Amino acid sequence: MSKRDYYEILGVDKKASNDEIKKAYRKLAMKYHPDRNPDDKDAENNFKEAAEAYEVLSNEDKRRKYDQFGHSGLKGGQDFHGFNDVNDIFSHFSDIFGSAFGGGGGSSIFDDFFGGGGGSRRSARRSTGTPGSDLKVTLKLTLEEIASGTTKKLKIKKHNTCSTCSGSGAKDSNAFKTCTVCNGTGEVRQVSRSVFGQFVNIAPCNNCNGRGTVISNPCSTCSGEGRVYGESTIKINVPAGVHDESYMSLRGEGNAGKNGGPAGSIIVVFKELPHEFFTRNDDNVIYELFISYPEAVLGTEVEVPTLSGRAKLKIESGIQPGKYLKMREKGIQHLNSHGAGDQLVKVNVHVPKKVNSNEKELLKELQKLPNIQVPNP
Ligand SMILES: [Zn+2]
Ligand SMILES: [Zn+2]
Repeated sequence: MSKRDYYEILGVDKKASNDEIKKAYRKLAMKYHPDRNPDDKDAENNFKEAAEAYEVLSNEDKRRKYDQFGHSGLKGGQDFHGFNDVNDIFSHFSDIFGSAFGGGGGSSIFDDFFGGGGGSRRSARRSTGTPGSDLKVTLKLTLEEIASGTTKKLKIKKHNTCSTCSGSGAKDSNAFKTCTVCNGTGEVRQVSRSVFGQFVNIAPCNNCNGRGTVISNPCSTCSGEGRVYGESTIKINVPAGVHDESYMSLRGEGNAGKNGGPAGSIIVVFKELPHEFFTRNDDNVIYELFISYPEAVLGTEVEVPTLSGRAKLKIESGIQPGKYLKMREKGIQHLNSHGAGDQLVKVNVHVPKKVNSNEKELLKELQKLPNIQVPNP
């Protein structure tokens, strides 16, 4: 039997927002709720179908895969549950069921109807391993590196997936034994009673961590953990225009999970090193230029450092100290758009603190000239 379109199931548009999807699902969940439709197989199937559609469409990543490749783009068990048990649906979407009925504070009518605390059922999902943790690294960057972007290689110590057992933790495929506590289901069922009747609560099996199997013969490289600690080299592509203390996440590059669990992220925090000549102002850089008094009066051409080598700059005659000259696009490339900031050159006039007797005489002569004297009122 071919599967129905998820958007069709929820009765929403392909462009529907997350909120619209959530609302549509709530409506269907209420309508087909097993409690309202006792012993109605069709209602139960509709209920499961809607849950699967919601599971995929409420997740940005899965929705993109589905939009692009349809049902064939998704992996059952990983991307959607194929819910067999309605209890599993409640545990999976406890946020929806918690709030749909005004429970708010964690308990809902559904919790009462279906027994057991919301918290324990939430984790009744089958997991394949423990997720790995995130790692934080600080990356020091020069202004030049920030200006045009760079690639850095960094050596870090972290947990990596064991290559001997590919992360399973088992010596070979015969090393897996069915868990005797849960008989391989990965779940333990607890029957509880309430005023509404008898309910089944499902919790993950502690003996096998919900995997359904235990390893009787562990991999000797990783002692059954599925990962090994060691030094790795990571490559970081730093885009141009990043800021001090901003960060990027490299998903899946962090510590490998235990027994094939998903890897964490590496959080790269950028640290901007102070520059010998420049101060940064957003994507502009400011440079303090000093010229002599005669140069300011007569005009000149100077060579100034820029983030991409030295460049010539013309100074008009009669320039006033404190004026900024703009060297267009000689600053830092914008992070998320085309173009770059400018280099702003602040013109300062150098006043010597010491002069010799000859210079002193000349300056005195100069001071007598009418255009040299300051026309103060
Ligand atoms: Zn191993
Ligand atoms: Zn078990």
